[in-house]
Amino acid sequence: MWEPGEQGAANRLSDFVSNVLKNYHRRDEPGPVTTSRLSPHLRFGEISPHTIWHALERTLPSDAQKNKAKFLSEIGWREFSYNILFHFPELASKNFRPEFDRFPWGEPEPGALRAWQKGRTGVPLVDAGMRELWRTGYMHNRVRMVTASFLIKNMLTDWRIGEAWFWDTLVDADEANNPASWQWVAGSGADAAPYFRVFNPMLQAEKFDPQQEYISRWVPEIGTTDYPGEPIVDMKASRDKALAAFSELKASRPTE
Ligand SMILES: Cc1cc2nc3c(=O)[nH]c(=O)nc-3n(C[C@H](O)[C@H](O)[C@H](O)COP(=O)(O)OP(=O)(O)OC[C@H]3O[C@@H](n4cnc5c(N)ncnc54)[C@H](O)[C@@H]3O)c2cc1C
Repeated sequence: MWEPGEQGAANRLSDFVSNVLKNYHRRDEPGPVTTSRLSPHLRFGEISPHTIWHALERTLPSDAQKNKAKFLSEIGWREFSYNILFHFPELASKNFRPEFDRFPWGEPEPGALRAWQKGRTGVPLVDAGMRELWRTGYMHNRVRMVTASFLIKNMLTDWRIGEAWFWDTLVDADEANNPASWQWVAGSGADAAPYFRVFNPMLQAEKFDPQQEYISRWVPEIGTTDYPGEPIVDMKASRDKALAAFSELKASRPTE
């Protein structure tokens, strides 16, 4: 899947610009390949953001031009993560927003954590993503958001536990992007998603994987008796519990 090294990175960029960039507006769909997959090459310094930027300044296929700005903005998000890390080197260990130090995250019981890690939660999109990660070392961006939200907000687990698992298993595990993204999902980061935004994995699957192309690739037993009938957590009750904990945190904010 990956051709490590500078030549591999250059080949990947060239293929992306010629054949994939035209489909980048569908980047939220995990089924087809619509993104660059340059992340491990960037992570290991096999290509620089400047090289990518200048490659896109050259003449592009006419049907790819429309997606150039969106793609370059993602390269910009990576720069933003590095900027945060530079100013806040404890990004992987401390909440960027210190009020989250009082949030009642816990450690899940080991069986539940194992179920999340190995893609056996009974939530199809979460399981597909976690299996993709375990098998390939990669996971689609939208599914990273959904699996992280499930761990943090439905399993009420400290984001650092998920960050550590991604750090161990991703081929693009990145000291800036990984903790910045986990803190974004948790709500504790710079410019983070609001804590009350809890991804609904069922709705996300309906919207971005309507034909179950991605889910059935990684969870082939879906729809049979081999697949759990119920999620390991009650989705509504766990969401309500997370939102109640957040309201309590807000209410207990020290006055200045
Ligand atoms: C919980 C979580 C953990 C993540 N951990 C990592 C990680 O360890 N390493 C990592 O590189 N990315 C991480 N990301 C961001 C993003 O998922 C990946 O960069 C992207 O999926 C890589 O695929 P791509 O190269 O095809 O992306 P493309 O869409 O082709 O984007 C091109 C490049 O832009 C950068 N980029 C894209 N999306 C983001 C983003 N949301 N934030 C910051 N930079 C971005 C990456 O360097 C990427 O290679 C994480 C996201 C989440 C939600």
